[in-house]
Amino acid sequence: MKYSVMFGKTTRNVARDEVTANADLLTRAGFVEKLMAGAYSYLPLGLKVLNNIADIVREEMDVIGADELLMPMLHPKDSWVRTGAWENVDVLFKLESRTGREYALGQSEEEIVTPLVMSKVQTYRDLPIHVYQIGWKFRDELRSKSGLMRGREFLMKDMYSFHEDQADFDRFYEITKNAYLRVYERLGLVAKVTEASGGAFTEKISYEFMVLTDAGEDDILYCDQCEFCINVEIADLQSGNNCPKCMQGTLAQARASEVGNVFDLGQKYGRDFGLSFIDRSDSKQFPIMGCYGLGISRLMGVIVEKFHDDRGIIWPEIIAPARVHLVNIGNSDEVIDHANDIYTRLCQQGISVLWDERETTAGIKLKDADLIGIPYRVVVSSRTLEEGKVEVKPRTDEPALITIDELISRLNSTPA
Ligand code: ATP
Ligand code: MG
Repeated sequence: MKYSVMFGKTTRNVARDEVTANADLLTRAGFVEKLMAGAYSYLPLGLKVLNNIADIVREEMDVIGADELLMPMLHPKDSWVRTGAWENVDVLFKLESRTGREYALGQSEEEIVTPLVMSKVQTYRDLPIHVYQIGWKFRDELRSKSGLMRGREFLMKDMYSFHEDQADFDRFYEITKNAYLRVYERLGLVAKVTEASGGAFTEKISYEFMVLTDAGEDDILYCDQCEFCINVEIADLQSGNNCPKCMQGTLAQARASEVGNVFDLGQKYGRDFGLSFIDRSDSKQFPIMGCYGLGISRLMGVIVEKFHDDRGIIWPEIIAPARVHLVNIGNSDEVIDHANDIYTRLCQQGISVLWDERETTAGIKLKDADLIGIPYRVVVSSRTLEEGKVEVKPRTDEPALITIDELISRLNSTPA
């Protein structure tokens, strides 16, 4: 990628109503642009990050054997009336066509996936099924002031599983919980897992995955000694209490953002749609169903909240829009030729690189590199040329002069 011709550059103009670091930095760095509260365009660099996060999620869903599909976002009213959600779900966006038909925009897709899947299931031999999609969701959120963390349109990975009995559901639930924890860990995040009541749909337990950040909208209590964690909203406990689980630790309170959750939906949706299967004892049975949400665009916001400094974003290498930010200082033929050489060699090695080849000041280029937050800044100038080297600076570390070969072997030995 060459920066001079790339669409979506750094800007000084940030809407004054952006109050969170993620919205401020992502906008100034040219990753996103706000259309209105809760709806953002993802510019080329931003889309790369979003896709990188989605790919990590895909990889971990592959590991647990879930199948990816894609369902419509535009839904007929009937499906939502069936489950009571047309009346009960306050965030549901409803629309009417010019012929007077009513529709809903998907805020979650149990209403769509249940008939889709169960119409293909005759007996227990056809189960379990676990399908997921990565798609945009729409919610009429009352407040949408946290940048990417609370969209009215946002990218979610939503998975749904269907099982012949509770035991099989429990097995898969545990597997998914661990897959989620791997996703967060690979993104460099520590997610605490709260156990919560499953809300309106079920008496059963659900898990919420929480990342500590002041920009979050949840308050949690967590133990300083064991993994106990609970959402304050439902808790009979408070900060300073003894941990009810290990009895050793003390509970601390913190702000957090929910980056995923998994729910036991029981038999609700099978019953609502009258979709059953023949079980092992030859009788009709409704499936036990689970749903598993993971906020992909919210994660992008949370990652920026966690990883930035006063100069800009600090992308974890695994999701950065490129690994190398190449900067030529000076525009002599010699410097340009050398930078071009490096650019070509890195590309040939499959190392993604953003080359800022603009004819502008070193100060502007270096400032922009920090703001954009690509992991390695590589500077070529007449000074580095003299030494036959380049200056490599990890985003949060000191610069060093090394040869191109050293740079390539270093990057190849730690693949992103
Ligand atoms: P919250 O309590 O934050 O509103 P939720 O309980 O409504 O979340 P789910 O319906 O379970 O969330 O959605 C699954 C995941 O999608 C959430 O864990 C979160 O990561 C993400 N998510 C939910 N609402 C939004 C939103 N408005 N903007 C961005 N991501 C969201
Ligand atoms: Mg919500």
